[in-house]
Amino acid sequence: MSTDGKTYVIPQPPQAAIPVAGTGKYFPVRRLWCVGRNYVEHIKEMGQDVREPPFFFAKPPDAIVPDGGTVPYPSLTKDMHHEVELVVALKSGGRKITTQKASDCIYGYGVGIDLTRRDLQIASRDIKRPWEIGKAFDHSAPCGSLRPAAEIGHPAKGRVTLKVNGKVRQDGNLDQMIWKVPEIISKLSEMVELAAGDIIMTGTPSGVAATVAGDRIECEIEGVGALRVTIGEPLK
Ligand code: MN
Repeated sequence: MSTDGKTYVIPQPPQAAIPVAGTGKYFPVRRLWCVGRNYVEHIKEMGQDVREPPFFFAKPPDAIVPDGGTVPYPSLTKDMHHEVELVVALKSGGRKITTQKASDCIYGYGVGIDLTRRDLQIASRDIKRPWEIGKAFDHSAPCGSLRPAAEIGHPAKGRVTLKVNGKVRQDGNLDQMIWKVPEIISKLSEMVELAAGDIIMTGTPSGVAATVAGDRIECEIEGVGALRVTIGEPLK
């Protein structure tokens, strides 16, 4: 069976998707982009030059873990970090989108975690290799239910928190973002064509730290929503 009329030689892989809160419906995910270095205090805690601009990297859409899910502690790392981030979901796209037109492309927003094998990311960075092994691993993109912009507007400020076992680890605000959401969409659309189904994790505030099996992680973005995941034992 297929959904597009073609006959495939193996079963079609499942479509990555995120629930839309309160609707019983899903947002299908095409691509998953992330912004690196979008909050000054996080750049400082990573020991980097705050004058260098943000940049983009990607994760595979099948790395998404839903609200309430469990993330098996990943292989190869001894230092998996949490990074709570505002997620932007696009209902349309294009190339060379202006900042003035960018908000028209937005379907809605959610709360995500850019899970990072920090030891592997830094090892790759130091020898100028790609970041995939540190960033784009299985289960590396927990994402809470989306809420439509038609319902919540376009949040430019609002507290961003992440707690581990009830203790606050990250506590920032959307108004601390270096590139604001319209600017992120505009800049990314200069590099690639954006389209309906694309989602963007917009960078993390400071307070990133290691998380281990058994941790209960709770994230909240004021005016947007919440996300809870548990870190589980490594897969056998
Ligand atoms: Mn991040």
